[in-house]
Amino acid sequence: MNKAKLMVFEGQGKVMSLQEQIIPALNAGEILIKNRYTSICGSDLHTYCGLRQEKVPTVLGHEIVGEILSFSADHQQTDYLGNKLNIGDRVTWSIFSSDPDSELAKAGMPQKGTDLFKYGHAQVTANDALHGGLSTHCILKRGTAVLGISKEIPLPVAAIINCAVATVAGGLRLAGNLHNKKVLITGSGLLGMVCAAMCKDAGAKIIHVADINPQRLEQAHAFAADETHLLTDPAVQLPAGIDVAFDMSGAPDAMEQGIQALGIGGTAVWIGAVFKTRKVQIDAESVIRRLIAIKGLHNYNFEDFVYAVDFINRNHQAFPFHEVVSKEFILSDTNEAFQYAVTHKPLRVGINLTQQ
Ligand SMILES: [Zn+2]
Repeated sequence: MNKAKLMVFEGQGKVMSLQEQIIPALNAGEILIKNRYTSICGSDLHTYCGLRQEKVPTVLGHEIVGEILSFSADHQQTDYLGNKLNIGDRVTWSIFSSDPDSELAKAGMPQKGTDLFKYGHAQVTANDALHGGLSTHCILKRGTAVLGISKEIPLPVAAIINCAVATVAGGLRLAGNLHNKKVLITGSGLLGMVCAAMCKDAGAKIIHVADINPQRLEQAHAFAADETHLLTDPAVQLPAGIDVAFDMSGAPDAMEQGIQALGIGGTAVWIGAVFKTRKVQIDAESVIRRLIAIKGLHNYNFEDFVYAVDFINRNHQAFPFHEVVSKEFILSDTNEAFQYAVTHKPLRVGINLTQQ
């Protein structure tokens, strides 16, 4: 019997423990993956710190890249785009699976479809434990979009595709055509960095990035930020006449400043506020008179995911994506990795699974 090793999370303040599970037989439509690399996302840290609740025990980690070990007997052995998949191929996959025939999936919102399942967020049970990134193996369920990727993309860069990069791709879809547009991005964590690079790639004219952290702003220049604004500076003046204001910070102050910066016909795209905050205050009259649209995005759809893979294929060397993971750990040192991430707040900490 082949066994998998996984780091099991039992709740805030409890040490994660390395456990073994027998790898079960695959159900219809499933793929068995050997995880190669997992980066720890901000929402993993929120769960770890108790800012969001998941059913425990669980296996965290959803920014994962891996290689195919086997297919269920009925599997078509093609990826989401219809390209042939083989044993040993490197793949990335949507952080969720859902029923492709549900109304919401058909309306372009599969991330809210029926039978929704999210990797790195589900409860570990006796028969269903291999669904997180802090594990040697993952079983991909039917209804997951799987895409083959090149082994030339470094593992830490490939790992961030299926959460950070795909989510930003969804934001760009909501923003519309960015050619020659003036963009403001509030929040320069990984989503903000990727957003700056993606806006540049999409032809934006000028990219402003604002944050409360001067080091992050410095780093944002390498990811195509033209001008940066330190929000803790009492004299800071955000630009006016912005076409698209993305908020990746989730800070109500930043969302309010973003709305204020928009010009006539501008669009605000809110992505960051996936936790409880105070209510945002908006001057309705000003929104109406300036013809402003406010759009929210949670996760992404399959079109966004395809865009994200294509973007990284074309740009993984054009921007310093290789610097995103600043420290790497092995699976058995996952507790140290989370402690490091909470203490030092790098863009990402990585778990290298290639030696497991
Ligand atoms: Zn994530």
